[in-house]
Amino acid sequence: MAPQLAGRARPTKPKKPQRTNKRKRDDVDVEALESAVSELDPKATYTTFTDLPLSEPTREGLKSAHFTTLTDIQARAVPLALKGRDVLGAAKTGSGKTLAFLIPVLENLYRAQCIGGDAGLGAMVISPTRELAIQIFEVLRTIGRKGHLFAAGLVIGGKSLREEQDALARMNIVVCTPGRILQHLSQTAAFNVDNLRMLVLDEADRILDMGFSRDLDAIIEYLPTDRQTLLFSATQTKKVGDLARLSLRDPEYVSVHEAATAATPATLQQNYVLTPIPEKLDTLWSFITSSKKSKILVFLSSGKQVRFVYEAFRHMQPGIPLLHLHGRQKQTARLDITDRFRRAQHSCLFATDVVARGIDFPAVDWVVQVDCPEDADTYIHRVGRTARYEREGRAVLFLDPSEEEGMLKRLEQKRVPIERISVRGKKQISVKKQVQSMCFQDPQLKYLGQKAFASYTRSLHVQKDREVFDLQKYDLEGFAASLGLPGAPRIKFLRADAEEVKRRKNAPRMGPEVDDDVSADSDDEEGEMGVERAKLDKKNGVRTKYDRMFERKNQDVLAEHYAKMVKTDGDAGGEDVDMSRLDGEQAVDDDLFDVKRRIPAGEGSPVPSLSDIDDADEASVTGDPATGTSRTVHLAGAKDPLIIDSKRREKLLKSKKKLLKHKAKGSRVVFDDEGMPHQVYEMQDDEAFRSKGAAEEQRRQYVDAEAERVREQDGRDKVLAKEKKREKREKRKERERAAEEEDGVEKGEDDGTGVGLVGGEDAMANFLADAQASGSDLEEEADVEVEEQPPKKQKKWFQKDVRRDSDDEVGVGKEIGTFDELEAEAARLLG
Ligand code: ADP
Ligand code: MG
Repeated sequence: MAPQLAGRARPTKPKKPQRTNKRKRDDVDVEALESAVSELDPKATYTTFTDLPLSEPTREGLKSAHFTTLTDIQARAVPLALKGRDVLGAAKTGSGKTLAFLIPVLENLYRAQCIGGDAGLGAMVISPTRELAIQIFEVLRTIGRKGHLFAAGLVIGGKSLREEQDALARMNIVVCTPGRILQHLSQTAAFNVDNLRMLVLDEADRILDMGFSRDLDAIIEYLPTDRQTLLFSATQTKKVGDLARLSLRDPEYVSVHEAATAATPATLQQNYVLTPIPEKLDTLWSFITSSKKSKILVFLSSGKQVRFVYEAFRHMQPGIPLLHLHGRQKQTARLDITDRFRRAQHSCLFATDVVARGIDFPAVDWVVQVDCPEDADTYIHRVGRTARYEREGRAVLFLDPSEEEGMLKRLEQKRVPIERISVRGKKQISVKKQVQSMCFQDPQLKYLGQKAFASYTRSLHVQKDREVFDLQKYDLEGFAASLGLPGAPRIKFLRADAEEVKRRKNAPRMGPEVDDDVSADSDDEEGEMGVERAKLDKKNGVRTKYDRMFERKNQDVLAEHYAKMVKTDGDAGGEDVDMSRLDGEQAVDDDLFDVKRRIPAGEGSPVPSLSDIDDADEASVTGDPATGTSRTVHLAGAKDPLIIDSKRREKLLKSKKKLLKHKAKGSRVVFDDEGMPHQVYEMQDDEAFRSKGAAEEQRRQYVDAEAERVREQDGRDKVLAKEKKREKREKRKERERAAEEEDGVEKGEDDGTGVGLVGGEDAMANFLADAQASGSDLEEEADVEVEEQPPKKQKKWFQKDVRRDSDDEVGVGKEIGTFDELEAEAARLLG
């Protein structure tokens, strides 16, 4: 996003006297504020924003956004931060930490008059993700829009470096992501941070952890040491090493919920379901389809998983709008999707951990964690996307039986109250067959499934917590089948260093070009990865139906990139390494996995032996099967021999049905009364034909007879057509009569009694006729029903109950003696 200027940064026509006045007022204001802040007691209790010594623009900004009462963390942290102290703020998710650091940022810079292009950068707010940075920037804009003159900007990448560079030189406050700001610090000459007064890390523990450590250390190198540092997170770090890295000065640790029984919001109901990984998709589908009137956020472990589940479920139309979000989408798409989910009332968003932290989607009903989070902290942040700021929310975690014990232990250690629930048997729907058939039909989806499988397996493999994640205990074969794959791809971990993997995953994508073309389809680690179906389990000779299906599938129809991933022959065995022996293996190249298709020797040999051909007894083969050169096969009943010169042709030999095409066609015969077979069109014997007379004579007789037959039939048809026409006309007339009658009734209603009388009479007559007709019809059918069934009438699309009422009125209002009985009957029929 391009840097933007917040507030009234540049008045269009500055008037000199006004400006001087304003400056004077500001000076007075600042002095008063300064003394009020120095007298502020951080230990006192503050309940509303008016209790704090805040500048007029901030007060107005807060008021305009309807923020009046302080949350706990705000009440404790803001006074300290206003006084210039370093703060380590810890409070549950959704408890208002953003304002707890943004208010001090605005106020401290305001009091220091660090405003305008010459003042330089005064504060840097770092967020781990772009989405969160955008959100923080929006909050800053909201509370800064009522009179603050700071130039504030957003530097998160996804745009050209140049655009950001120009704006950076003028900024007073920057909200950024670590990678991008580091890029500017090292490349943008005009970007001067010597005057920086405040550094804020939102989701501090995340920014301080492994993934960002190198970037952060490098950033800090550039910043002046004499600054105020604020760290905020729901899962705050207290590690001395981390704090030393940031050179904090006597930091104040503010943890408002430390004594609370739970680390998660009290309004959040948390449950887990035991779901073996092959059943995950079934359970998820069942859940989504039974919660269509909700706003659901589903977490999966990787972008590939997200894409696969999204694509598969989308095709199956669950009846709730689906969205998906992961870090490899283009920035504009990411923005669009978060925005749509923000505004949606009922929607289901499949996402990776890009939105696990800090994002404030309004009114999320459910957080579903399909893939187990890497640790309890991630769990706490993910579930924190619901039940925000005193709202209610529910969270469900899917756990594989092998993960249950370990994960529950971890959650308990972090004070997370969670209870087991199970899916009602009736509600559980299996989508395995559907997913499988979709994958067989759509090579792209199958390819996504391959990648999803690989990335999920990798995510399990790189998990640090071996007590929770034990790769050996998962039913990967079953999982692959649930993704519609014909067997589990065999994954070879060439580099199994978990830290390295994580570092690479989180590494900023350096260079504008890279940033710009990051898209859902762009290559990433897995794109380069060799993935391939597992070798059939040769040891015990088990062949599943997927194996057979895989063999049946014509390889040529697979996606091009999928074909690339499949090695058909040559290096079939060889360098495959068992996953269990991989830890610490020397890396051959940068790939994390290497999975190859292994066609077992002996299976799928280029030329089928005779016994492979179903009609072997009817066929003979020439040529040399061993060399695989072209050869000919003579099929019984075939006119020409079959030349076998390609794999496709060889496959043909296996199919009885396809071979039929190459055999000579049979002919149809009919049997006469004596059971003798005859051709359908049999030529008459020459002598028999001649005995009946001259050929020309016979032809004329035949033509005459046929002409007579046609004439007779024509006559009958004409009579029938006439009759039908008459019937139609009568029906149309009847319809018109009925319509006229209705019109009359309407008129009567609209215009009052006078006109209604005329129309009413006609209508009445028609109505009675109708009633009579329908009555007799009904009586013919069943005497009993006459009582209840109303007369059949043409209904007009715009009229429902009105007509009956008006018919009633007419019936009651007019008395026609001759029809007394009928009228009574009709009234009764109308009920
Ligand atoms: P956290 O960073 O602790 O997860 P946020 O700062 O994102 O929480 O705030 C969560 C929600 O609470 C936001 O929607 C925000 O608008 C709201 N909020 C924050 N402070 C207040 C307040 N003082 N009064 C009312 N609502 C608030
Ligand atoms: Mg936050």
